Amino acid sequence: MESMKRRQFLEGIAAGVLAEAALPLVSCVRATASAKKADAESIAIYPKKEGTAMPEVRIEYLHPKEIEERMGACPTLFQPLGTVEWHGKHNWVGVDALKAHALCVQAAQRGGGLVAPPVYGGVGGLDQPHTFVMEPENSLGGVYVRPWVEKLCSEAVRQGFKAVIILTGHYGAGQQMIVRELAVRMSRLLGVPILGTPEYVLALDEGYSGDHAAWGETSLMMHLYPGSVDLSRLGEAPHQGVGGRDPKLYATAADGKRLADRIVERLARLAARMPQWDGATLDRFIAAEGALVDRQIRLAAETGKAWEGWRKIGDGKTITPYGQALAEERFEEIAQIAANL
Ligand SMILES: [Zn+2]
Repeated sequence: MESMKRRQFLEGIAAGVLAEAALPLVSCVRATASAKKADAESIAIYPKKEGTAMPEVRIEYLHPKEIEERMGACPTLFQPLGTVEWHGKHNWVGVDALKAHALCVQAAQRGGGLVAPPVYGGVGGLDQPHTFVMEPENSLGGVYVRPWVEKLCSEAVRQGFKAVIILTGHYGAGQQMIVRELAVRMSRLLGVPILGTPEYVLALDEGYSGDHAAWGETSLMMHLYPGSVDLSRLGEAPHQGVGGRDPKLYATAADGKRLADRIVERLARLAARMPQWDGATLDRFIAAEGALVDRQIRLAAETGKAWEGWRKIGDGKTITPYGQALAEERFEEIAQIAANL
């Protein structure tokens, strides 16, 4: 697999391989005009209730009656996570939360459930402009994001949701481990299925093993928020704060649609089914997800390298079947994946 993983990208930054060009000033007038154009176009992913078959699923835009109707049909809550982080000169800094939010909205529209407002702020972030680093990139301590998201889970259950899907569009090693670990813990504690995962692991079999503002993320943004990406702002490679296949050469809205469709299809299926799982299925789910994150944490602890649990992410076989196995509830295969990491 050609795509550079975030780990390699960060190691590249540490080694001084990637360019650190100064950020040019953009006039307020130009920036505002550009943002307005993108907003007008990107609103297409959030169709209005009138004149379209797609329902409003963002909980903050609903009245009590519509919330109760949707929860009655499917009591699953999506919780998107992201952060404010440099994503190249060509992308908005909100990429991580925005793409997770849009994927959750589409999944809820297709499979059922509601979408909570995204949480901005997680573990890590590049040493680049306009980046809010709440905790060190590879920290496994999770002083901030863990208790906040755990409380959101228990509140969701108190409100009557029977399943929670936490989708993080931001994926440093620490962020990924903390999100999956807290989901396992809260599933046990609350007795409902809670999945905590980055979106890209649901599209490994589409050739996306995670990147930073490169082919994968940029293609997703081109599809999910048409008009938001301006590839003409990129000069010659290497691009500042971009890790993976060159977005200028490879990113397309068509690839973004292919990745998004796969992710959304799997999330929608899970959203519809998770509230109906019986106790035995919940136990199998918790065992599988727990085995996966336990193995990643153990590898990180044994080697002192936060990314060690991802060393086989791009080999096209070891972890690649994860998304399909999860969506089809073949949890014993996930436990086997964990054993093979
Ligand atoms: Zn990102």
